[in-house]
Amino acid sequence: MPLTDKQRRLYGLANGIPLDEIPQEDAHERVGLLTVIADIRPVALFLGVEEPDRLQLERVFQHSEVKATIAPGPATAYTWESHHRPGITSLFRERDDTPSLWLCHSSAHARAISDGMDQVAAGVLLRYPQCCIDAQQREKARFESAVIAGYIRAFGEDTGKITRALLEDRKVEIDWEDDYRVQRTTARFPFVQHIACGACLSSESSPTDILNSEYRQLVEDVDRHLSDYLLRIAKRVADDLRKSAGPTPP
Ligand SMILES: [Zn+2]
Repeated sequence: MPLTDKQRRLYGLANGIPLDEIPQEDAHERVGLLTVIADIRPVALFLGVEEPDRLQLERVFQHSEVKATIAPGPATAYTWESHHRPGITSLFRERDDTPSLWLCHSSAHARAISDGMDQVAAGVLLRYPQCCIDAQQREKARFESAVIAGYIRAFGEDTGKITRALLEDRKVEIDWEDDYRVQRTTARFPFVQHIACGACLSSESSPTDILNSEYRQLVEDVDRHLSDYLLRIAKRVADDLRKSAGPTPP
């Protein structure tokens, strides 16, 4: 669906405003911006916009159909049971209230966002495929468990000692193997904002594949420079993955 003149103008006005200080992240966020302006996504979320840029973006969207809302970023949804003692687990479950910029179309979404949203609910609004949301929750559960086990190995089950270690930012050895899903997603699906699950990464016509094609078409139509840049990044990450002998990207 082509963009209206008004939507193109909005995208043009927002285009000079930095969305993240890292160029690659900025490019990803710009796809998010474009998909919400084009109304093929109900909500976009920006975690790395600096205060003056945030104000500028709010001004850009002031009289448009897209509402800008400042609210905390999505909180971790603890959908899993920890295998460790609750007293210890709770030390690792803090809420991060960093204000973030959300753009959305409906007032109902804006209200829900202002009330505070967890990552699972936010993932649905951000159009992340359910299979990838579920995989991310499983990954978080495994990672939390690995981190807690690492601290217990280093400091025992004494909550006082663990609390002190966390306050002093002491590092511990964590038994964790990276499956390169972030890099594999960038290499194969450079236009999506979520981390693809294993099933999406290893099959054709997966939900992520379909989203990626849809977003790619939109970006190519509106901002050729951005789509070329994202494809170059994807190629570079795919080359790096091959060189580092990580899992071969398809
Ligand atoms: Zn998936």
